Amino acid sequence: MSFSSLLGLPAGLQVLSFDLVNKVLIIQVASTACESACPGCQCHTSRIHSHYTRKAADVACGGRQVRLILHVRKFFCTNRDCPRKIFTERLTAFLEPWARVTTRLSQEIEAIGLATCGRLGSRLSIGTSRTSILRRVMKLATKTTDISFRRGRTFGTVLVDLQRHQILDLLADRQKETAAAWMKTHPEITHVSRDRGSEYASAASAGASQAIQVAARFHVAKTLSEAVQQLLARVLLEMKTADQGAEAATQARGDSLLPIEHWRPAQEESVKLTIATRRAERQERYQQVLGLCEQGLRSQEIALRLGMKARTVREWRNIGVAPDTRPRRT
Ligand SMILES: [Zn+2]
Repeated sequence: MSFSSLLGLPAGLQVLSFDLVNKVLIIQVASTACESACPGCQCHTSRIHSHYTRKAADVACGGRQVRLILHVRKFFCTNRDCPRKIFTERLTAFLEPWARVTTRLSQEIEAIGLATCGRLGSRLSIGTSRTSILRRVMKLATKTTDISFRRGRTFGTVLVDLQRHQILDLLADRQKETAAAWMKTHPEITHVSRDRGSEYASAASAGASQAIQVAARFHVAKTLSEAVQQLLARVLLEMKTADQGAEAATQARGDSLLPIEHWRPAQEESVKLTIATRRAERQERYQQVLGLCEQGLRSQEIALRLGMKARTVREWRNIGVAPDTRPRRT
């Protein structure tokens, strides 16, 4: 078995050498076809003009990224009536003209991108980033979903094969009768992915009663985001109502009320105990600092005696109050 067939290269491409550079497999490949067809007139010619090299990324081999260096040629077009005098050798189907990536790698990236929204591809040995994969996927999408008849005014129905990511048909309106009639002519339909409206639901029931109806991913996300927004609005309202009730109660006691931005869930008993213990320790330490201050000791000396930082001692002395009475940072 030749290296070319082992790597799945098309006929007419021959492997010259391999090299491993920085974990990338560099493969030198030469075109061996005797002649090439002019892209202008399709006439075949064997008159070589010059040689040059092209670089292209290819599908991974043994978990390694592959870079092909293709030794190809330019040909003279021998057809006198053809406007092209010189053309570059075509490796159609394997490598598009001007492409930097082989067709098979391009298809692999697109498939991975569509299946994983770009996340997985960047971890595989295909040497591409997540954004680059997403760009390819977006390119596919824009190629096949431009369906506006008259923007914002005239709406149609687009029928998409979600497994192959291809548009099947366009319907001139979005009436349920039209969609149902189309579905009746396609008994192979097993699932109908649709929006949340009743029109397409009844169209699917009438036209494809055998199919399971599911909500489209976009509409699932939309429903979820609306539900979360409603929940948050309700919780905020409940918190504000509770806040106002507490305000009335504390005003009677003359306490200051914690504004809603500082609201926190109630603490557990064990947490409360820990806080109270630490607070008592700090209070005792503060009294020791005060006592030593009265003896005329400097902050540095107090810090040394109590095993504290001099900066903390100075801070406590400057504030002139017990540390816990300071407001907490929010
Ligand atoms: Zn030509």
